[in-house]
Amino acid sequence: MESYKVIVTKDYLVFSSAHFITFAGHRCEGLHGHNYRATVTIEGALDPNAWFVFDFVVLKKVMKQLCDDIDHVVLLPLESDRIKVAVEGDIVNVSVDGKPRYVFPKKDCALLPIPNTTVEMIARLLTGRLKAEIDRIGGTRVTAIEMEVEENFGQSAVYRVTY
Ligand SMILES: [Zn+2]
Repeated sequence: MESYKVIVTKDYLVFSSAHFITFAGHRCEGLHGHNYRATVTIEGALDPNAWFVFDFVVLKKVMKQLCDDIDHVVLLPLESDRIKVAVEGDIVNVSVDGKPRYVFPKKDCALLPIPNTTVEMIARLLTGRLKAEIDRIGGTRVTAIEMEVEENFGQSAVYRVTY
């Protein structure tokens, strides 16, 4: 039994974004930012014609786009019980535990379908978006994706899913 995986970790797979997370109980961070960095690993069978698992050029391009989509914005969770995000025209109102906290221009926000903007949830979100793009392209031999999102030097989360 043999297996292959390809790994992409590039200096341009970064996104500099603001966020804040909630903790258990009533704790909640203040707004701050990170220079996030993504590393992706794809496992799968070899393409019998090309002898690779997945085209590096395509993978790098898709990952760059996914990072660009959430670069230079405020990352906000849409599925939080405590952080409520309300869009009114061009404005995003954010409250925490029922108290108004921030108002942002909508163009400066990424409204994400996750419960908290932890690196774990961002990694899962990026994996889902990558898989959707791989499916669209027709990458049927992919058997697993592993996504690492680093929010600080030596501080990252890894999400892995098998198909
Ligand atoms: Zn943070």
